[in-house]
Amino acid sequence: MTLKDWFIKRPKYSSTGLESSHLRVPDGLMTKCPGCEDVIYNKELEKNHKVCPKCSHHFRLSARERLDITIDAGSFEEYDSDMSSANPLDFPEYESKLAKSMSKTGQTDAVITGQATVAGYKTVIAVTDFAFMGGSMGSVVGEKIVTAMERAIELRLPVLVISASGGGARMQEGILSLMQMAKTSAAAARLREAGLPYIVVLTDPTMGGVAASFASLGDVIMAEPGALIGFAGPRVIEQTIRQKLPEGFQRAEFQLEHGFVDIIVMRKDIVATISTLYSFYLD
Ligand SMILES: [Zn+2]
Repeated sequence: MTLKDWFIKRPKYSSTGLESSHLRVPDGLMTKCPGCEDVIYNKELEKNHKVCPKCSHHFRLSARERLDITIDAGSFEEYDSDMSSANPLDFPEYESKLAKSMSKTGQTDAVITGQATVAGYKTVIAVTDFAFMGGSMGSVVGEKIVTAMERAIELRLPVLVISASGGGARMQEGILSLMQMAKTSAAAARLREAGLPYIVVLTDPTMGGVAASFASLGDVIMAEPGALIGFAGPRVIEQTIRQKLPEGFQRAEFQLEHGFVDIIVMRKDIVATISTLYSFYLD
């Protein structure tokens, strides 16, 4: 105790802790749902794979969390875990942004690729992570997706991609990142020529160069309810055309209606749906 502490003004009345604080959400204990605005215990949310138990709002998952709820426990063999981006264009502050994302996510870039079993089916899997620079695709994401698809062809395995990429092509790598759209699309075409199934799950958000390349080329395209899926975001479009967009524009349900998405699947049913599809394609 320092001298200063002796002079702290004590509250006049004792506090029950209920006066105003009962309306606040304590950090790290509870989360306010953006869907129904109810406050949910984080433990309850975790138990429900981060889906609101009241309104089924699907919260975002990290790539690791997504892997954990998708693959059979202990079956994961990661590919290229140490591949990381250079700064080929000397883009200002790119290195520090990468470093920040690395320490935040524990990943070297915005995609995790590897091999695992899902519902007992051996598959190549790639999961993008929104927490790493918006899940954007630069040379590393492109290269890892292509390598994963090439390994699938070599091993005669299906490919499952789960996307959470709101960042699209990563502007800090300019044309080198745009080029990944063509490169990953070509790899998806080779997968098709090899006759191997390619399943995509679009989660919130999947936009830009990722939505416009490998994420829209699956034989079956699933989406989680409410996921934002599109090319340019609604704000950019509104500013460009100077018109208000309809309610629910570019949400998964809108994209299902317009033929971009084949099926909307609740998070808890995704593994079972993959299993049904793999049994149809592979057995
Ligand atoms: Zn809710």
